[in-house]
Amino acid sequence: MNRPIPLTVVQDSGESLYAAQPKIYPREIDGRFARLRIAAVFVLLGLFYLLPWMRWDGHQAVLFDLPARKFYVFGLTFWPQDFFWLACLLVIAAITLFFFTALAGRLWCGYACPQTVWTEVFLWIERFCEGRRNQRIKLDGGNWTREKILRKSAKQFLWITLSVWTGFTFVGFFTPILDLGHAVATLSLSGWEGFWVLFYGFATYGNAGYMREQVCKYMCPYARFQSAMFDRDTLVISYDVTRGEPRGHRKRGVPSVLASPALAAPLSQGGDRAPAVPALDGDSGSTSVTGTRRSPPSANALGDCIACDACVQVCPTGIDIRDGLQIECIACAACIDACDSVMDKMEYPRGLIRYTTESLLAGMNRRILRPRTAIYATILGALLVAFTWGISHRAALIVDVLHDRNALYREMSDGGIENGYTIKLVNKTDQAQQLRIALEDDQATLRIVGKTHVTVEAGQVANIPLTLHADRADIKGRRRVGLLVRNDDDSIHVQHKSEFFAPEEK
Ligand code: SF4
Ligand code: SF4
Repeated sequence: MNRPIPLTVVQDSGESLYAAQPKIYPREIDGRFARLRIAAVFVLLGLFYLLPWMRWDGHQAVLFDLPARKFYVFGLTFWPQDFFWLACLLVIAAITLFFFTALAGRLWCGYACPQTVWTEVFLWIERFCEGRRNQRIKLDGGNWTREKILRKSAKQFLWITLSVWTGFTFVGFFTPILDLGHAVATLSLSGWEGFWVLFYGFATYGNAGYMREQVCKYMCPYARFQSAMFDRDTLVISYDVTRGEPRGHRKRGVPSVLASPALAAPLSQGGDRAPAVPALDGDSGSTSVTGTRRSPPSANALGDCIACDACVQVCPTGIDIRDGLQIECIACAACIDACDSVMDKMEYPRGLIRYTTESLLAGMNRRILRPRTAIYATILGALLVAFTWGISHRAALIVDVLHDRNALYREMSDGGIENGYTIKLVNKTDQAQQLRIALEDDQATLRIVGKTHVTVEAGQVANIPLTLHADRADIKGRRRVGLLVRNDDDSIHVQHKSEFFAPEEK
C-alpha cells in the first residue's frame, strides 16, 4: 500500500545557511566559584586600570614607550637590546598557560581571559540597568515603552563610558598617561592616540557587550588547540552521568539515590564514581514524575538530576554540560554553583556537576605528576631560573665601538698613525654615570688622543669621538685593540674589542 510521507519545508526561499544566534540571558548565580570569579575580576581589572597611574623611580611604573624604544616595567628598563628577555617572558607566559591547562584545564578561560573578565563586568551593568534574567527577557520582548528606553539608554551610557575609559587606559600603557589625560582635556590628542583609544574602546564594547560567548566559540584560536594539552588526568568540569541519570522532575524531599546504603556502598570503597542507577522504562531525559498522576519515585528510580535546567540557564555560552565535555565550555564553573545550590535544596550531596577528571569518573586514581606536566614544569622552572639570572645580570652599560668608515688610518706629519672611532655608550641605569675610557694594559704602543672622561645621563645614549695614536715604528698592518669603559667605583666595567689599522710597511 502506498503511504504518503510527510515533508516539512524548512527553507522555502534563498540559499542561506545562516542561522541567527539566539541571544543568551545567563542567569545570575552565587556560589564558591562565582565569588572566585568576582575576586579575579577585581584583581585583574584593578591591575589594568591602576597600573598606568602608578609611579616608580620618577616615571610611569609600566610604560611601553615605543617611540623611545624603551619599556619600563617597575624598576626595570628594557632597551631594544633586551628584547631577547621580553621574548623570553612571552615564552614563560605561554609555557605557564600550557602547564596550568594540562593540570587544571581551562582555568585561563574561566577566570582570567580578558573576554571573560570584561563580559562579566558588562553583564553586571546589564543586570543593574535591566534587572534579572526574566526581567531582561521580558524587556527585550516587550514594546518600546518609556521605561525600556530609559533602561536601555542607561545601559548603553555605562557600557560606552567603560569602553572609552578602557581604551584610554590601554593607550596609557604606551603613552605616559598623565600626558594623555592632559591631551584629552585640552583636545590636543594626536590622530593615532585618538584612533587607538576609540578602536580599543570599540573592541571592548563589541566583544563584551554583544559578541560575548561567540568570541570563545568561533574566534578564539586558543579554544581550538588547548584540547591537545588535555589528557585523562586534566581537571575538567563534568556532569556525573552515572549519578545523575535517568534525570527527572520530582518533589523536594525524595531521597537521593546515594541515600540508599546498597547503592552508595561503592562510594565508601573509594573512587569518584557514583553507583549505577537502574533505568526507568523507556528511560529518557523527558521522564517526568512531577505531579499527582504518578506516585513519587523511589530513590533508585531516578538519578540525582532533577532536570531543573538551572545549569543551562546560568551557562554564559548557552550549552548543556550534561551533554558531555564541549569545546564551547569555558570552564567558568557557574553550572557547578547552580547545581550545588539545587542539590542543597534537595538535600542531596553536592558535586553532581564538579571539577573532576576522566580517570576519576572511570573509577581510577588521578595522577597529578605525569610526563606531560613534569615536562612543562621542568621547562618552566628552567626558564624562570634563566630569566631571573639574566635580568639580574644584565649589563648596565652598552658599549659599541665603530671604526671611522672614511679612512682606515691617517698618517700624521710627525710620523704617527691615527685611527678614528665613535664610541656609543648606552647608560641603562637610572642614574647619570661618570665614565672613563682607557686602553687595556697590553696596548702600550697605543694611546688615546682627546677626552677620556665622559658623563652619560640616566637612560641616555652618548656618541663619543675617539682617536687612537701609534708611532709608525711600533706598529704595522692590522692590530686587535681592547678598550675598557668603567665608572669610578668599578661597578660598571665593560670591555670591547676593535681593530687598529696601520700601513703594512713601516
Ligand atoms: S542543575 Fe543539576 S539537577 Fe538541575 S538540571 Fe542541571 S545537573 Fe540536573
Ligand atoms: S558548561 Fe557553561 S556554565 Fe558550565 S563551566 Fe562550561 S561554560 Fe561554564
